Amino acid sequence: MKISRIETIELTVPVEAPLRFAYGVHIAFTRTIVKIHTDEGLVGLGETAASAAQVEALSAPVIGQNPFDLEVIRNIISNRFYWSRDPLVGSAIEMACLDLMGKKTGLPVYRLLGGAVRPHINMAAYCFYRYPSDDGQWPAVTTPEEMAVHAEDLCRRFGFRTVKLKGGVLPAEEEVAAMEAMRERLGPSIRLRLDPQSAWTVETAIAMAPRLEEVGLEYYEDPVAGQANMATVRGRTKLAMSTNMCVTSFEELGPAAQIRAIDVVLTDPWYWGGPTQVKALDTVARTMGIGLSMHSGIELGIGMAVMAHTGVTMPGLTAAVDAHYHHLRGDIIKGPMLLPENGVLAPPQGPGWGVELDDDKVAEYVEIHKSGVYRNVYVEANKTGPDAHRPGWFPIIPGW
Ligand SMILES: [Mg+2]
Repeated sequence: MKISRIETIELTVPVEAPLRFAYGVHIAFTRTIVKIHTDEGLVGLGETAASAAQVEALSAPVIGQNPFDLEVIRNIISNRFYWSRDPLVGSAIEMACLDLMGKKTGLPVYRLLGGAVRPHINMAAYCFYRYPSDDGQWPAVTTPEEMAVHAEDLCRRFGFRTVKLKGGVLPAEEEVAAMEAMRERLGPSIRLRLDPQSAWTVETAIAMAPRLEEVGLEYYEDPVAGQANMATVRGRTKLAMSTNMCVTSFEELGPAAQIRAIDVVLTDPWYWGGPTQVKALDTVARTMGIGLSMHSGIELGIGMAVMAHTGVTMPGLTAAVDAHYHHLRGDIIKGPMLLPENGVLAPPQGPGWGVELDDDKVAEYVEIHKSGVYRNVYVEANKTGPDAHRPGWFPIIPGW
């Protein structure tokens, strides 16, 4: 079997309501679907945040390769130029190759990755401060009480037992008050996470720690930027510290462990270079005594399936997985969306990732993308800046 063609499709899927984060506002998610065609007529699916132009430019040299030769393909892409190491491209190609391996052998990808050590992955509720949706369907989420009600609603709808708040948006005291309100409303058994996205100073992160210790967090995710600052904060709190910002590659893991900057590293099927690299991190992190969780690089149905298939094969991934997915207004795959039930998600069955594109839905989201009405690239959506509700505003990090 040989790769004969690599097709890319850029599309944009709106979310329920504008999601606020430290760097702006998400009103929709733009992704590139990667379809790898073979000389045998099989088609493998991948998905990435890289643009179609990036994917096409960096992946062209793998045409003619056998999709089973993942190491060969990774080396061809990442070592082409010093700037071609962008994992967002190589990871999507690896995803499509794994889908092809599954379709060729008739096996789900989790069987190719070593088999499922558990039947499903645990999923976390991903809470954002929200502006109200234009259609009036979704209210604003701003106050601590509104955030607690929002979290409770997500737990009721999807059975989540872990809740994460995307912080770095409001003054730190208000975000800590939101965590207190969530603990009050959700009770002691729900695991809570707070992620200020490195928008806090070291002084703020240390000052907030005692109240957060009182709340009880599963982990304190990237309150500050950089390994040295994370190590300083970690030395002043009993909370476990996690990151998807100061450790995003294997090279960064060793130094972080040496200065004791983190307790938990969040892996990601895109930023770490694909499912096989995520599995390698499971082993490496466990060897170094560092815990593992999984970051959401923003995913549609293919990506969600990738996270489930990969996650069930990882012994170290006991923590709940983050996913923006439950904020989507729709998806690109046939059949029902891959939403969790009772807080867990099993990998879709069938060869490969077990998902198929719905051509009508793909066409709809391609049209939305072309219309420019929604752009995940928020600056394009609003020429005045990354937040249409705050003309002229731009993020300054640290902000609080
Ligand atoms: Mg994070």
